[in-house]
Amino acid sequence: MKLSILIPCYNEEENLPVLIQRICETFGEDFECVFVNDGSGDNTQNILKELAVSQDFNCKVISFTRNFGKDAAMYAGLGECEGEYISLLDADLQQNPKIIVQMIALLEENPGLDMVAAVQTVRQESFLMCQCKNIFYGMMNALSDLEFRRGAGDFRTFRSSVKDAVLSMKECQRFSKGLFCWGGFRVCYLPYEAEKRKKGKSKWSFFRLLDYGVEGITSFSTRPLRIAALFGLLFLLAATVSLTVSPLVFLILMSGGIQLLCMGILGEYIAGIFTQTKNRPAFLIREVYRHQPKNEKIL
Ligand code: UDP
Ligand code: MG
Repeated sequence: MKLSILIPCYNEEENLPVLIQRICETFGEDFECVFVNDGSGDNTQNILKELAVSQDFNCKVISFTRNFGKDAAMYAGLGECEGEYISLLDADLQQNPKIIVQMIALLEENPGLDMVAAVQTVRQESFLMCQCKNIFYGMMNALSDLEFRRGAGDFRTFRSSVKDAVLSMKECQRFSKGLFCWGGFRVCYLPYEAEKRKKGKSKWSFFRLLDYGVEGITSFSTRPLRIAALFGLLFLLAATVSLTVSPLVFLILMSGGIQLLCMGILGEYIAGIFTQTKNRPAFLIREVYRHQPKNEKIL
């Protein structure tokens, strides 16, 4: 199998028919699609099964018991990908499957490359959301030793060796962009224009993204802990100086605020340890459905 296309789906029933048609038109035969139905409440599951039969292509559908998040879906799907190359693609038609053809060509021309990651030149997000994401990537780069490329999301194609490496990372809080960076893979960045989401709404509210961002930072950097300690030190100094001036109320408020801030940062890490030590799996599967084209020989 040359190519596995891994597609996490959360309530994407309206986008799937066009997506699958586009994929089948682009890739002909030697590919498989691995869909992960991430606890959709709509008809995603049945539509996927119907389309697998009507379009008769190599297809696997992994269904979660509930919504575990896109990163858990990608983790589960990777385990099922058998292709020489693996592509991560969203279900909402924002990413044109034809770009995958360019990504594979780049990997074939450059044997030293491990991965091609698409970078959005035109974004289909509000100005405010773009700024929030820019701030996040700025913070990530400042706080961790890894280098995150702005605009590079999950839309990427890589060799199966990268898949094996990512699967060997067993943590349950999976910030995939961080795992890809941490792996030290040789990456080529390919600019592309994201299209408008065809149907439905983005699944990422501001607060869900904030949650994700905090998880990303605390999974890949311990520097906030050091900054918290520095705050404490600075405050001790300020308290010593204030003995001569006495801005008492200001000091009490500030000290309370900073202590809370430091406790909050510590709390984030402790929460991460708490989640990991429970050793729960990152996802639970309800069902795995497989469809093979009728004319394909089973080896
Ligand atoms: N997705 C998912 N689980 C989630 C949220 C999203 O599997 O909990 C899928 C979603 O169906 C889509 C992809 O992840 O295929 C990207 O989601 P979305 O388009 O909402 O993200 P955005 O493009 O707004 O960043
Ligand atoms: Mg989208």
